[in-house]
Amino acid sequence: MTEATLKQLSQQLAAKQVSSVELATQYLDRIEALNPALNAFITVDREKTLAAAAAADARLAAGNAHPLTGVPMAHKDIFCQQGWKTSCGSRMLDNFIAPYSAHVVEQCEAAGMVTLGRTNMDEFAMGSSNENSFYGAVKNPWDAAAIPGGSSGGSAAAVAARLTPVATATDTGGSIRQPASHCGVTGLKPTYGAVSRYGMVAYASSLDQGGPIAKTAEDCALMLNVMAGFDERDSTSLERPREDYARELNQSLSGLKVGLPREYFAAGLDADVARAVDNAVAELKKLGAEAVEVSLPNTELSIPAYYVIAPAEASTNLSRFDGVRYGHRAKDYKDLVDMYEKTRAEGFGDEVKRRILVGSYVLSHGYYDAYYLKAQKIRRLIANDFKAAFEQCDVILGPVAPTAAFNLGEKSGDPVQMYLSDIYTLSVNLAGLPGMSVPAGFTAGGRPIGLQIIGNYFAEARMLNVAHQFQQATDWHTRAPAL
Ligand code: GLN
Repeated sequence: MTEATLKQLSQQLAAKQVSSVELATQYLDRIEALNPALNAFITVDREKTLAAAAAADARLAAGNAHPLTGVPMAHKDIFCQQGWKTSCGSRMLDNFIAPYSAHVVEQCEAAGMVTLGRTNMDEFAMGSSNENSFYGAVKNPWDAAAIPGGSSGGSAAAVAARLTPVATATDTGGSIRQPASHCGVTGLKPTYGAVSRYGMVAYASSLDQGGPIAKTAEDCALMLNVMAGFDERDSTSLERPREDYARELNQSLSGLKVGLPREYFAAGLDADVARAVDNAVAELKKLGAEAVEVSLPNTELSIPAYYVIAPAEASTNLSRFDGVRYGHRAKDYKDLVDMYEKTRAEGFGDEVKRRILVGSYVLSHGYYDAYYLKAQKIRRLIANDFKAAFEQCDVILGPVAPTAAFNLGEKSGDPVQMYLSDIYTLSVNLAGLPGMSVPAGFTAGGRPIGLQIIGNYFAEARMLNVAHQFQQATDWHTRAPAL
């Protein structure tokens, strides 16, 4: 049962072969058995989950169900969900019970999906390895010595370990694609503005975007149909007609032009990863695609540009955590300023403090032009690189990360090494484009490798079609870790 896709679960629920309560119980039992070792969930609440499942069963019986009514899912602990602790992986919000729900959560609940729990993540979504969580690191289900990738490592590990069929996640600089790649599951980061940020704890607002992690591209399409859509409460939400993201899944790839950026296959790319990506390209060629070389010359600059812009936005977004309105407040303090200082010193972890310091510095008078403004100009150059590349091809293919999952602790003492592992994902966020990670193989040591597919603006349906056709021809996405 835990191998079933969303489509299969939907059919089984509709045919009354299984009830939502039965499904939820099965997953909750599996979480209870496996989560202590994996640490993929921060919060599980059996009673709440079973109540939602019972309501879904009633709706199914009444005959007014959505295709995903009764299907269990998990939410990254960054999406506010009324009545649930929404910690964002931080001590700062360890006592925060959300008084309202994010747009994404509202839409999943309106469809009748059942929340199994809230997944672990790097604190405030800052990280590439999930080692920055106040609740401890998440383990990679394929290898307990390996990181699951960050920051949505809990969501990716939960799907890989079959603790949930699907989970929400967010991607500011790679946090959907990278953990999906390291855990051997499928993840999609939509075009900026396609999914509302309302109720999603803000990290870097001009880059943050929610999306799904699931077993297959088809499941991602079904999930995006629920998650996406205009929301006037997010000023950057795009007012576009609703679309069916599954509409192009079965199109042939004959004549499709896939662009291979020269800069993505250069020095620094691990040999196992390069081989898996090459094999995936060969597979797509068999399906009728044609490969063309493209160039994204400013790729290297994505790291300095991102690690100026994201901390700058984070430093202002995180100023709201001051101990006054919600979250942690220091116990002993002399006056207001002392309360702010102690609260923030206690509530935030090291990486978050590092980002606030960098962000405040690059925005300060005298440095703004040299760092922040310069980074914004690079951001435009990066977007222009993609614009030129998409004149030659329909989708861009490449690796998700330079290596497969590294070991826990391997890079946690060296922030710059950690930042370098984001080289292939950051540009997509800086440009606002949609991107996916699709399972494409394993290293010699048995760790999963993802293929990245980058689409043009609003070309999610096309990108999903490429991913789906690839998954029809390969079985990487069906492999599950032995647990
Ligand atoms: N690794 C990047 C960072 O730490 C991206 C994280 C994300 O996408 N949320 O900022």
